Amino acid sequence: MAYDYDSGNIFAKILRGEIPNDTVLETGHSLAFNDIGPQAPVHVLVIPKGAYVNWDHFVIEASAEEIADFARAIHAVVEKLGLEPGSGGQGYRLIMNAGEAGLQEVPHLHAHILSGRPLGKLVAEG
Ligand code: AMP
Repeated sequence: MAYDYDSGNIFAKILRGEIPNDTVLETGHSLAFNDIGPQAPVHVLVIPKGAYVNWDHFVIEASAEEIADFARAIHAVVEKLGLEPGSGGQGYRLIMNAGEAGLQEVPHLHAHILSGRPLGKLVAEG
């Protein structure tokens, strides 16, 4: 197997209830909570409850039910916060960092939902 999951990571601790989080919503297989260091007025993280390091690990090993739940949980956050462009919302940016080039800090899959202001260029200059 290509990925070893570190169960001591901060999001695993949140899922076990060992440290608090500011929950936005919870589904059967996913949890959404506010980022502790927001990079924009809206900065929500969505994570699967399963032990997956990153998107690749998740797509390879998660069940279809978990994958569908995660995708729908992201949409549910967007809908709950009124961000959906198709419903008059201001839109958002969805980011999933992976590995060294992506500068992933926490080794548990998470999607960042960012909004609340124009977010600038997609990628910072190196
Ligand atoms: P990444 O660089 O993609 O791994 O992003 C990790 C994100 O997790 C950063 O935006 C952090 O601010 C956020 N973060 C770290 N610890 C916590 C925590 N305890 N609660 C909420 N967000 C956190």
